[in-house]
Amino acid sequence: MSKMKVLLFAVREVASMMNKYRLMSPGPTPIPPEVSAAGALPIIHHRTPEFGEVFTRVNENLKRVFLTENDIFTYAASGTGAFEGAIQNLFSPGDGVLVVNNGNFGGRWVKMARAFGLEVTELEYEWGEKADNDEVAEALAGDSGIKAAICVLSETSTGTVNDIQGFARATAEVVTIVDAVSGLGACTLRTDEWGVDVVVAGSQKALMTPPGLGFVSVSERAMRMHEESRMPRYYFDWTAARKAYEKDPAQTAWTPAVSLIIQLDIALQQLIEEGVENVFGRHVLLGRASRAGIKGMGLELFGPDEDLNSAVTAAWVPEGIDGKQLVRMIFREHGIQVAGGQGEMAGRIFRIGHCGYFDAFDIIATIAATELALEALDYPVELGKGVGAAQRVFSRSGVRA
Ligand code: PLP
Repeated sequence: MSKMKVLLFAVREVASMMNKYRLMSPGPTPIPPEVSAAGALPIIHHRTPEFGEVFTRVNENLKRVFLTENDIFTYAASGTGAFEGAIQNLFSPGDGVLVVNNGNFGGRWVKMARAFGLEVTELEYEWGEKADNDEVAEALAGDSGIKAAICVLSETSTGTVNDIQGFARATAEVVTIVDAVSGLGACTLRTDEWGVDVVVAGSQKALMTPPGLGFVSVSERAMRMHEESRMPRYYFDWTAARKAYEKDPAQTAWTPAVSLIIQLDIALQQLIEEGVENVFGRHVLLGRASRAGIKGMGLELFGPDEDLNSAVTAAWVPEGIDGKQLVRMIFREHGIQVAGGQGEMAGRIFRIGHCGYFDAFDIIATIAATELALEALDYPVELGKGVGAAQRVFSRSGVRA
């Protein structure tokens, strides 16, 4: 059997043969066909003008999506790798850092900062709650040893989006680090206007590209902090990345993930063509429709019912239903892969991802499949109620999603 067949069978074996496969997870996410096709192009050598042309355009377009004039460094790593690089490049062992923890990823940065020997001031919130920026400001005012502050934009584990504009205001005196892995390109983030020093992102979510690229944008203030830092590092060294860039802006320090960058080039061109503000608007609509669909079928949202939450919609699994079985059934019977809960929310919530290459009918199909699965599990759901509610969001918006 050919390799391609093996791959397709891996999905088809579990989803019924008659169903289309729809990936509705908050990452990895589906990619446009043009981006898939670009992945099949021959590998080109990276030290050539041909690759340089692509990489120069990618850098320019990344800045337009990050809404920044700062340098952006691209790594062959997932978002966690780029984040680890930020810790290595900014701090020295024993430095103080404030970390907001209101979900799985905030929790990851607390653990990572401790793993690198940092003195962590953890501001912990219930999963689904937003960070309180007054508390952030208070914690910083009470400890002059804190050099930087970390917050997640879209906490993918819960769907909750933190107020990063307020966070950056509260942390204006220190270096601000934002995890925008699932948020970048789905939730408004005005890096320069809001004064965010370091933004970390990944390719596999709203940037509509396969997993494997990590990005970090770095302000001049963060660069100055980096120059003082004594943490060991090599691959992720920002000085090496900047030197390579200064020598030739079309080149990287190490071998880049050529195919992924060529795919990213196509994806970014599509985002720029749609218009970054329109992309944000489409995501707001997708979130609104998902929440309306969930409420319409009588389920309860997990987290605030707010337009801010435009990347992921999380809902409580209703009483008497096995959450893992629900997610599995939506996939096996209807070919739609939504995500279950992570960590302490495993089996208790389920999540619909809509950061990236998604439209109105992706949401409507997912709501329809959820209703059907709940009915099959003998949950009292009236078919079409959620679907109708989601459809009305789109029909009333007057905007094509
Ligand atoms: N931060 C957030 C908000 C995420 O959603 C994820 C991945 O889901 C990560 C960090 C980790 O990124 P990666 O899985 O690319 O290492």
